Amino acid sequence: MNQIAQNIEIIQKTIAKAAKRAGRKAEDVHLVAVSKVQPDDKIEAALSAGHRLFGENRVQEAQSRWHERRAHYPDLKLHLIGPLQTNKAKDAVALFDVIETLDREKLARGLAAEMQKQGRKLPCFIQINTGDEDQKAGINPRNLPEFLELCRDECGLDIRGLMCIPPVDEPPALHFALLKKLAKEHGLPGLSMGMSADFEKAIPLGATYVRVGTGVFGARGL
Ligand SMILES: *Cc1c(COP(=O)(O)O)cnc(C)c1O
Repeated sequence: MNQIAQNIEIIQKTIAKAAKRAGRKAEDVHLVAVSKVQPDDKIEAALSAGHRLFGENRVQEAQSRWHERRAHYPDLKLHLIGPLQTNKAKDAVALFDVIETLDREKLARGLAAEMQKQGRKLPCFIQINTGDEDQKAGINPRNLPEFLELCRDECGLDIRGLMCIPPVDEPPALHFALLKKLAKEHGLPGLSMGMSADFEKAIPLGATYVRVGTGVFGARGL
């Protein structure tokens, strides 16, 4: 078995154990393999291992990595997990299956217009800046009710859940718990939270998608 296949198997087992401990079903926690900056041979290894769910944080890079491969893997699912500029909404809607980083009105309107044009209604997650960090994308938790209403009622977007990236210097579980609480208050079923270092902690707090890059592929840029 190749190294990537082995990593995926180990992570899936860890997910399954964490889910079981939490009284959840393993199949309710999906592994998004974050393939940004990873070389082709590692991507191919993950695909050969049967993995089909990937996350990318830049539209152009994702296009060059996935545009052709898509044709060979009809069951491929691509999540956009990085900040999206409104002028890239067209390309993002054409390429991705799920947008996880919806975080402002202009983008909501731009995405809605593109989805309508392309006849593609993509599930979206709203990114929450749970740590209220200036440099980080995502809406402030207190603006969620208003933003959710705009996304759903005015833009007609299909909002499936919430996503967060906790501050590096704080216990991630606090942020996962906050995201869970917000999702529950608004009846949203999806929670995208947890990365290589902390995905196990996100599962008892309700993660439905964990985004794991280095844990699957090894360090980026090697
Ligand atoms: C890169 C990235 C990840 C994966 O990070 P790892 O620490 O490599 O698992 C997860 N989420 C987002 C938003 C990212 O940009």
